[in-house]
This record gives sequence, structure tokens and C-alpha cells, in this order.
Amino acid sequence: MPDEPDLGTRGRLIRSLGTLRDMLPGSFVERKRACGRPNCHCADGKNLHSQFQVSVLVEGKPKTFNIPAKLVPRVRQQVEMRRRFDAAAATICGINLRRFLKDKENQ
Ligand SMILES: [Zn+2]
Repeated sequence: MPDEPDLGTRGRLIRSLGTLRDMLPGSFVERKRACGRPNCHCADGKNLHSQFQVSVLVEGKPKTFNIPAKLVPRVRQQVEMRRRFDAAAATICGINLRRFLKDKENQ
């Protein structure tokens, strides 16, 4: 049965989607900035502060949200979940399209 490897892949991907339930939309961005305090290490223009942000479309409009430092690891993971979700959906759709085209030939 040539379909079986595809069906195994599809089932495995579908079952994995539950682990991605906390996914967040958008892209994760790191911006470097100076804080403006003259005695800060960033005043040399090289050792700048990192500000992490998520850029996302909200109702079709681009929005940027600052991420507090302590939430950065979690939010980074959640944005990565969305990438994995999209990749899984693309693979599943590819498998289903192949199966559809094959079925159509056999009608
Ligand atoms: Zn500074």
C-alpha cells in the first residue's frame, strides 16, 4: 500500500498539533536601543539594550508589542509553535492533495 507512509505521517502530525495549542501569531523581533542615560553601558552606542517584540497583524493592521524580558523565552517558543503548526498544515495539505489527485484518476 503506497499510501501508508503518507497516512502515518499525517496521523503523527495531527496528533502533534495539541502540543502547539499555546501558539502565538506574528514574528519575534529583537531591537537594539540606547536608553539615553549618559552613564549607562549603552552610551557608547555599541553595548545596546535588547528590546524584544512581537510584530503581528491585528484585524489586518500591523502591531508591535514589547515583550518583558522574563517572558521572552516563553513567547519565543509560542511564536515558534505557530511556525511548526503552519509547517504541519502544509505537509498535511500536500499529502491530501496527492491523495485527491490519485483518487480523481481512479474515478
Ligand atoms: Zn542604557
